[in-house]
Amino acid sequence: MHLTVPLLINPKAGSLFRSGLKAWLDNHRNDFTIVPTESAEDLTRKARQLAEAGEPVVAAAGGDGTLMNAAQGLAGTDAALGILPCGTMNVFARELGIGSRRFDVALDAIQTGPRYQVDLFAVNDRPFLQMAGFGPDARIVKLITPRLKKHTGAASHVIVGFRVAVEHHPIITVTLPNGEEFRGTQVIMGNGKRYGGEAHLFANARYDDGKLDAAVIHQESMPILFEILDCMCHRGATRSNVSQCTRLCSFESCEITAEGKLDYQLDGDYAGTIHPGEKAIIRRLPERLKVCVPRTIIPATPLEKFMAHPMVEAWRTRIQRAKEF
Ligand SMILES: [Mg+2]
Repeated sequence: MHLTVPLLINPKAGSLFRSGLKAWLDNHRNDFTIVPTESAEDLTRKARQLAEAGEPVVAAAGGDGTLMNAAQGLAGTDAALGILPCGTMNVFARELGIGSRRFDVALDAIQTGPRYQVDLFAVNDRPFLQMAGFGPDARIVKLITPRLKKHTGAASHVIVGFRVAVEHHPIITVTLPNGEEFRGTQVIMGNGKRYGGEAHLFANARYDDGKLDAAVIHQESMPILFEILDCMCHRGATRSNVSQCTRLCSFESCEITAEGKLDYQLDGDYAGTIHPGEKAIIRRLPERLKVCVPRTIIPATPLEKFMAHPMVEAWRTRIQRAKEF
């Protein structure tokens, strides 16, 4: 039986055109019913309504932020999220084996792939799909202006990174429910293995084990940066390949406090600041999310990996934009 799937889309999103999804959809008119959305809240509401109306699959086109909005509407329902990954990083889609902007693989997952239940976690009741960061990485995404991002693309992280590297960073304390404490100046939590793009940070993380994996990093010295890069080159950190500067742990919930103002990011977007005396509560949500995944995971070819690199995508985007005018 042919399945026509409702597809939540922001018709004005530039990524729709830049990623080539618009043109691809023109050739797949029979596979989707387009459901236009106006805002993040509208997308969440429509996702929930479609799930309640009994749709077995509700698809969404976008990056990790858009997928999170759809996930909020679908969590705990019987509807599975179908993913058309047309954002910049598409970390969640890569993690599930769909990859970045591989729309044929995405369609196959929606139509014939298995449904898979993934955990959802929240920081101060705000859910995230893939990762949360407390400290310099959140500070970097907070300081990147839209103008800088437009002109320099993914390189904006490096430019702002130099500025953030010379700042003073407050000591962060992570407290687990059993009272165990970890201290550092950067905390990264992952629901899956990837941190950004194809970079693996948590070698042993799983989406369905009910736990978040975390690295608490004492980032006072430059070598730690090389250590993190080295871990990413070897498909993630394990207890055997990190130094004393990085502590790895996993948990269902925890609390975070800091000695100074602490910024945090969720799925790569600045999400808030914790002030001294306040705490962030990280917990697993009672509802899980059903997602459509490919039957077999086809690894990205070297060319696909190269083309999906954020720097390369930034340049392709610029070229595409130049063509539009
Ligand atoms: Mg997990």
